[in-house]
Amino acid sequence: MSLLFNPKKYKDRNYPDERSKEIMLKTIQWFEDKGAAKLKEDYHSKEFCEDFQQFVTEEGIFETLFLPKGYGSDPDQYYSTYRMYEFSELTGFYGAAYWYVYHVSTLGLDPVLLGDNEEAKHKAARKLKDNAFCAFGLSEQEHGADIYSSEMKLYPQGDGTYLANGRKYYIGNGNVASTVTVFGKFADTDDYVFFVVDANHPNYECVKNIVNYNQQYVAEFALHDYPITEADILSRGSKAWDDMLNTINICKFNIGSGATGIVTHSFYEAINHAYHRELYGGKVTDFPHVKRLYSDAWLRIMGMKLFGLRATDYMRIANENDKRYLLYNPIMKMKVAIQGEIVHELLWDIIAAKGFEKDMYFEQAVTELRGYPKLEGTRHVNMALIAKLIPSYMFMPGEFEEIGRITDNRNDDFMFNQGRTRGYAKTKFHDYNIAYKTLAHLPNVQVFMEQIEAYKDYLVVSGQGLSEQMKDFDYLLAVGELFTMVAYGQLIIESARMEGVSDEIMNQMFDVFVRDFSSFAVDLYGKPLNTDAQIEKIIKMIKRPVPNDAEFEKILNEEVYSLVDVYQQNP
Ligand SMILES: Cc1cc2nc3c(=O)[nH]c(=O)nc-3n(C[C@H](O)[C@H](O)[C@H](O)COP(=O)(O)OP(=O)(O)OC[C@H]3O[C@@H](n4cnc5c(N)ncnc54)[C@H](O)[C@@H]3O)c2cc1C
Repeated sequence: MSLLFNPKKYKDRNYPDERSKEIMLKTIQWFEDKGAAKLKEDYHSKEFCEDFQQFVTEEGIFETLFLPKGYGSDPDQYYSTYRMYEFSELTGFYGAAYWYVYHVSTLGLDPVLLGDNEEAKHKAARKLKDNAFCAFGLSEQEHGADIYSSEMKLYPQGDGTYLANGRKYYIGNGNVASTVTVFGKFADTDDYVFFVVDANHPNYECVKNIVNYNQQYVAEFALHDYPITEADILSRGSKAWDDMLNTINICKFNIGSGATGIVTHSFYEAINHAYHRELYGGKVTDFPHVKRLYSDAWLRIMGMKLFGLRATDYMRIANENDKRYLLYNPIMKMKVAIQGEIVHELLWDIIAAKGFEKDMYFEQAVTELRGYPKLEGTRHVNMALIAKLIPSYMFMPGEFEEIGRITDNRNDDFMFNQGRTRGYAKTKFHDYNIAYKTLAHLPNVQVFMEQIEAYKDYLVVSGQGLSEQMKDFDYLLAVGELFTMVAYGQLIIESARMEGVSDEIMNQMFDVFVRDFSSFAVDLYGKPLNTDAQIEKIIKMIKRPVPNDAEFEKILNEEVYSLVDVYQQNP
């Protein structure tokens, strides 16, 4: 079975229980029944997906997906990042608007689930039965990523109650959600607070939809003397702050899986079109450049998928002594989403005019995917996080037991107990060489390992001065992109072994990654801040892959072009 998501072959997938399989199959059926024409019509008319809201509410789908053990009405309830991965990919595959309402609902619910208020958790779980859509009220118009400056306030009334006043901006589902979690401050102490409101309350004003580019409702809302009691307060002070960051930690993972779903669909559409198209008496897919574009696109999607699955394992086994997910998660968010954009560029160069046609999923996918790297922290914000882990990851590996693929029905306890968000830079990782050595016999992995060694040499000569240089975000981004490649490749290798991906595919994939590493090295090379010693080492990172035409053709014909016509959405 192909590793890439294919709704028409989904029955064969391995799930630990019937309910998991049921929610996926029902959702696929719902989208296929709705059909491509109606999905596109709703996209073009910017129809908010109320029909999807009704469907997931009636079927209890978000209850199954979002609630941890002990909450909701199912005695076998559990929270699984694997299931979330699969559902996120599925919704992305059919349309970012559906993915987005799912994504912001889980973002909206998690501050309740992470908070200290037990009664509020059960109440929010019950509310999902009437309306599964939730909203996460963090951002404010004036402050963007600067959350410290939040102006939403709770004013104490002297009797233990409060009145909430303030505005939030860019809040998905802010038009309909009955659980809207709001981050703000107590007006008297300036301490942080997370509390919950309902969009149907008369003191909640949904001011407007800020965007007009697709079906999403990204609201500005205002609270006018909205009454709040202790029952609505989820967490306070540093706990509220940590819950906010930990919520984003859990949920930004969806960005990578959603992006993978989007480009998988785009890929099917693009290959179905080009393979059957003849120009000058030959197939479009026989042009040498088209072969390269398809091969690169497919290998990149495979990388996205393999990385995502492996990162899922690390989310699931996380515990107080194993926070490796803190690196893999921002990579999932940033790197995987950006890989998706690259895939679209490659595919669009092939299908050209067809990619503009209004009946294609493709024309909407390329527009919608562009938002992904910009949500839940920009590329810079995520790279700032990633780069803090360079010393620990590259030079101070720890010991960890090997873990396999985790698709079972365990409850991902730690996601809801991540604790304080301090000590990030001290996070420990296992030695990346363990993975790379398993494929050291492949010529392109070998070259990639030489690039990593050159990068390490660069870090060594950079010494303490590097942290000063990285205060310049432009420089940090260049250094961080190279570091990200190391961890990205590592998890892909680990994952490929579990999925039985062939050496030939991996060698071709690392052909792409060697080129990527070189191009990031060239970018770093051009930075004015470099010292002469750094420049000397950077040049050593620039390498070319080892060509293998026969292997390239084999993968192209046996893997990439074998996906022609395997998926066509119902009309
Ligand atoms: C479609 C859409 C849906 C959204 N949905 C929600 C939602 O449901 N709930 C919600 O709360 N928010 C939501 N947001 C808000 C989103 O999370 C914000 O876009 C994000 O917080 C960044 O704010 P900003 O875009 O205003 O950028 P700014 O914060 O103004 O950033 C400007 C620039 O400064 C850089 N920068 C900022 N901080 C740092 C830093 N610490 N280090 C380095 N560089 C930095 C950024 O990289 C960027 O280039 C949504 C946004 C959009 C567009």
